[in-house]
Amino acid sequence: MNKPWQDKLRQIDPYVPGEQSKDPDIIKLNANENPYAPSPRVQEVLRTFSAEGLRKYPDANASHLKQVLATHYGLAPDQVFLGNGSDDVLALCFQAFFCSDKPIFFPDLTYSFYPVWCSLFRTPYQTIPLDDQYRIRPADYAPQNGGVILPNPNAPTGIGEGLAFIEQLLTVNPDSIVIIDEAYIDFGGQSAVPLLKKYENLVVVQTMSKSRSLAGLRVGFALANPALIATLEAVKNSYNSYTMDSVTLEAAAASVEDDAYFRDTCAQVMRTRERASAELQALGFSVLPSLTNFLLATHPQKSAREIFEALKARKIFVRYFNLPRVDNHLRITIGTDAEMDALMQALREILAA
Ligand code: PMP
Repeated sequence: MNKPWQDKLRQIDPYVPGEQSKDPDIIKLNANENPYAPSPRVQEVLRTFSAEGLRKYPDANASHLKQVLATHYGLAPDQVFLGNGSDDVLALCFQAFFCSDKPIFFPDLTYSFYPVWCSLFRTPYQTIPLDDQYRIRPADYAPQNGGVILPNPNAPTGIGEGLAFIEQLLTVNPDSIVIIDEAYIDFGGQSAVPLLKKYENLVVVQTMSKSRSLAGLRVGFALANPALIATLEAVKNSYNSYTMDSVTLEAAAASVEDDAYFRDTCAQVMRTRERASAELQALGFSVLPSLTNFLLATHPQKSAREIFEALKARKIFVRYFNLPRVDNHLRITIGTDAEMDALMQALREILAA
């Protein structure tokens, strides 16, 4: 029987992340995690961190990590905002910047969390179709809107665009906040950070989950002009002042300070990506050009769902989206070379069956 309070509960369809598993034999290529360990300097912070310090609240302004990131990107600390993963930062951006009655714009095929936040925050939105090459056309974003958000490179396509594209998007949107979600930018993409000098309505959001192998630590950040960062801080401080814990603040700074390790591991992921893309094509797959740590692939003979299930039976997890335009594609995260070899072997068997 219905309880009288039930009609007061929030009804919402949440975002569904890639499946997790505790089985150590699983080859996990479904959540765009990095196959390499974080910088050894992160390990050192965790080894030497004193539990005594946890008595105190963390620095709510995260001054040290902001300074380290500002130095890394050639910005001022008041141009940096931090959050508990970029999902937290993006959710706060929606609340801080998308407050008009006009619909915000984002691509029809993109990060599937955007419509969920729209529903949570009751933000009107309009999706803009990608072209038939799965690319975003900046001119489509010119009509009046309440703001623009898109990932560059886009997900799940993996396609990345250059700075001329971002400038075009900003040029047609002088009156809106434009958020570029750069979750995958470090795998060969061109970051919009240099454009922050020129465009006061630009917000760049990045994460340490992918290129810095810190998905479990939860660190994301936004880079923008000080007035926009101050707005984000005000929204965060109206909700939860302590989104970043003391251990995370130190470990994340150690990661940013180890640039050589970061560059090496990103380069290795990119090398493996190019090899994996060529091998998939040799097996008959069509593969979109990717500037990320994943590939979107489709096979003309076998359905994506069938391949997905057959891989899963062999303990290899990839991502399948039951969504228009990509429901015959697989999104495959780049693992180690050995993991990709195991994937190719499994695919050879599945396609021969
Ligand atoms: N943006 C995009 C495009 C993503 O794919 C993801 C990962 N699911 C995120 C943001 C969020 O990543 P995180 O919260 O781990 O920083």
